[in-house]
Amino acid sequence: MTTAESLDSLIRETLADPSGAVSWMLQQLAGPALDDDLAEALTGRLVGAFTGGGPTDEAAVERNMVLAAALGACDCWGELAHCETCQEAGTSGWRSRDQAAFDLYIAPALRAFERPAPPEEPQTEEGKRP
Ligand SMILES: [Zn+2]
Repeated sequence: MTTAESLDSLIRETLADPSGAVSWMLQQLAGPALDDDLAEALTGRLVGAFTGGGPTDEAAVERNMVLAAALGACDCWGELAHCETCQEAGTSGWRSRDQAAFDLYIAPALRAFERPAPPEEPQTEEGKRP
């Protein structure tokens, strides 16, 4: 493989999985001194820095993970190429749901959708009630 082909391959892999690429680079730099939790936290920070994300995105990331758990999906929703957890199969229903998260976020929506819609009030003139 030529240098240009290697660079092209590296760029393609990085674009397909930025978190995986950053994680790999951290492992190359720090080696075994970097434990998994720290590597994951650093990866999130670095990817956030490059994508414009930051601390304000942490709540959104957390909510995404809770909603994925509530719906039995992988954190990547089956959309991350080469996801080590689900191998791109992690859409809703892929695993058992987290019942507490389901009860908190999904069940209220289902109950609201099951209620009949309120009847429309008759109107005699545009915007006025009889
Ligand atoms: Zn996944």
